[in-house]
Amino acid sequence: MGPPGSGKGTQARLLVERTGAYQLATGDLFRHHLGAGTSLGTLAKSYMDTGAYVPDDVTVRMVREKLGELPAGQRVVFDGFPRTVPQADALDGLLAERGRSLAAVIVIEVPRDELLGRLGARATCASCQAVYSLTVRPPRVAGVCDRCGGPVSGTARADESPDIVRKRLAVYGEQTKPVVDHYERRGLVKRVSGVGEIEDITRRLEAAVA
Ligand code: AMP
Repeated sequence: MGPPGSGKGTQARLLVERTGAYQLATGDLFRHHLGAGTSLGTLAKSYMDTGAYVPDDVTVRMVREKLGELPAGQRVVFDGFPRTVPQADALDGLLAERGRSLAAVIVIEVPRDELLGRLGARATCASCQAVYSLTVRPPRVAGVCDRCGGPVSGTARADESPDIVRKRLAVYGEQTKPVVDHYERRGLVKRVSGVGEIEDITRRLEAAVA
């Protein structure tokens, strides 16, 4: 977990590369549906473009479907889910149905000013969804993804205009901070500073869950 711009997608990707877990990123799934032109994609876009969350029932249905496609026993890194307390409750049910449980909840913390700087210059690979920041971590070759060679565009997301960025941070504070508190009470939360070099953050994260 972490606010928009905290680097949770990047760190989740590195974590799955090292552990063989599956990265279940609800934001990426919504963008995938959008690219594929499904009705779910069209519905999600109407919320995403304003910085709001997609309704819980829609989000949970999509996560349930995705979990159903994974082999039994597959370890999963949830990225950007759950984002509301009802989603956290639904996740408990989905895991219980499968005889599984949460190992840890990693919360990546970044000061608000840094988030605002990062989000304004965010860029995404159209092919593999790798995330860059044009100011903090640009691709090695401008416009070309380091990982897959796909096109990296700085204007790939409609939800990164300054007003929308502020709205997304506010929504995180209102709806997702309570989820962190919810997991804190269950003793699952590991807090990691998301400031500094990507590799250093990965090391902190791995130490936190070791
Ligand atoms: P992300 O790529 O994780 O920053 O997500 C981008 C956008 O997708 C969010 O601002 C929401 O509009 C939507 N979204 C992603 N995950 C969720 C979720 N778990 N619940 C509701 N909306 C979500």
